[in-house]
Amino acid sequence: MLREAHRLAIPAVVAHGGAGAGPERLANVERAVAIAAGILDAGGSAIEAAVEACVVLEDDPVFNAGTGSVFRTDGSVHLDASIQTSEGKMGFVIAMQDTPNPIRVAADLLDEGINGLSGDGARLWADSKGFEKSNVQGRPPFEGATDTIGVVARDKSGLIVCATSTGGTSNRPPGRVGDVPLPGCGFWVQEGVGVGATGIGEAITRGMISLRVADRILDGNDLEESMMWALDECLEEGAEVGIIALGAEGTGHGVSNSTNMPWSSWIARK
Ligand code: ASP
Repeated sequence: MLREAHRLAIPAVVAHGGAGAGPERLANVERAVAIAAGILDAGGSAIEAAVEACVVLEDDPVFNAGTGSVFRTDGSVHLDASIQTSEGKMGFVIAMQDTPNPIRVAADLLDEGINGLSGDGARLWADSKGFEKSNVQGRPPFEGATDTIGVVARDKSGLIVCATSTGGTSNRPPGRVGDVPLPGCGFWVQEGVGVGATGIGEAITRGMISLRVADRILDGNDLEESMMWALDECLEEGAEVGIIALGAEGTGHGVSNSTNMPWSSWIARK
């Protein structure tokens, strides 16, 4: 039976376009938020809203996710994606090739007994389920860019979902694993809160940023204060990081310690 808080939930979504992407990408992020808002307003689920917004951003070549993912140092394109729900479901894929929308494969794992798949095995799974297989264009690495993407959505049932997707940081070697597919690092969701992170994945992982922000919010702290605390207290000096979060009620929020992370938030009218 749904609890009172769930019956009263007001749909909302927050999304980002990367810690280092810059304000010129804001309109692109707003387009993805509008897609999620339309789904949520029509009574759709937070899973659908988060995934479809993520797909918009994966398909947008300006972001380091899906189509616009940066090459590794060997020139190949390998993608990571993750999704988690406040009902305790999780799916992530690591280093997938030839998969323009890895978030769809990650979402397919939500109802499976396994949480994650990597490399060729992930692609084999995707083949067996009929997910698109095609060359991912990618783009050359560039200095200082962390422009991966993430979405956190809440639907009218109170379900909260975080979906994230990345091509990984520039100039990384083959085999490197960042924060995006690591639970508690690039993403964390539990009842009443969802958090997604972007930026230098190694720093995010060492700081367990998403889980620690979620804990702090659940302890009763404000979203923005909790995220700023993580940026100030849980990261080594100089690591470019951004965070988005959404709670059980109210609007989502984003913060970063870099140059104006593009992020956008929407909440339904009561
Ligand atoms: N966090 C991602 C990674 O380290 C990169 C990014 O946010 O742009 O793989």
